[in-house]
Amino acid sequence: MCAEPRSSSSASRLLAFSCACAIVLACAPTHAFAYCRLTTTMALAGLDCANDGMPLYWARQCISYSVVPRQSDTPSLVAIRDVVDRSFATWSDVQCNGHALGLGLSQTSELSQCDTPGYDEKGPNANSIIFLTDWRARDLPREAFGLTLVWHDEKTGEIFDADMQLNETLGMLDICKNASCADGTVDLQNIITHEAGHFLGLGHSSLTNACMYGKAKLGETSKRFLARDDEDGLCAIYGDLGTASCSADGYLPNGGFTSACPTNAPASAASSHGGGWLCSVGHAADGGALATLSALAAALTLAIRRRRSRTR
Ligand SMILES: [Zn+2]
Repeated sequence: MCAEPRSSSSASRLLAFSCACAIVLACAPTHAFAYCRLTTTMALAGLDCANDGMPLYWARQCISYSVVPRQSDTPSLVAIRDVVDRSFATWSDVQCNGHALGLGLSQTSELSQCDTPGYDEKGPNANSIIFLTDWRARDLPREAFGLTLVWHDEKTGEIFDADMQLNETLGMLDICKNASCADGTVDLQNIITHEAGHFLGLGHSSLTNACMYGKAKLGETSKRFLARDDEDGLCAIYGDLGTASCSADGYLPNGGFTSACPTNAPASAASSHGGGWLCSVGHAADGGALATLSALAAALTLAIRRRRSRTR
């Protein structure tokens, strides 16, 4: 499924890659799974799902994430923090071959106050969850419900930091009760669970019933839950890890935690690193009252150019 052309030539080029990838996947006779792992090549080539490059992964087993307060109090900050935890727990509760996932995922007690994604190699950081009312002013893909930036080593694929941005402009953000949303509502758990998959290193699945499928409708809640394909993708990355033993300090981001914006981060992550990809983005009328079919999210992977001796 191809997206509508976008205005910039670079975006069009990325989307062309995306369409070509879809054809390859459809024709592959022995493709036993549909999940996709983000790779270092994907970050540079703009492919929707790359078959080369180093897959991205967190080497650390204890990972924290931090909520940046919204401007609105509805839902409440307490409810927001709770739904973020539930969304991440959907992934951390996965069992691989009967064993608990060897990742510890935990929200920091302190909030982040930085609404700009970034990673500082030389200082403290936060894996921030950011709600944006000025989505379009930031020139983010207008039909996307979210965009997760995954900062990684371009040689090894090790993830250092991830920042999740959530779009406040496509509909009213809510936590729909009983998985039933009012018209025009965006279910936060639906979006954050999907974005958490990117946070952990997954790209988009080709299965329409997967959490990591790249599109969603307003009011959708089905991506609160994982399909077997999502679990297989997660276990492909982390299934061999032993039990995570996480002390309080073990969750600290690289360089420690800061609630402020990273001091030495590039002012513009995307332009500074030049890499990234956008999943298929476009409008499609489905004949229903809610005719807007939007790209759920794109993950933008950003390579950190430095050599590291550490391997997984
Ligand atoms: Zn996505």
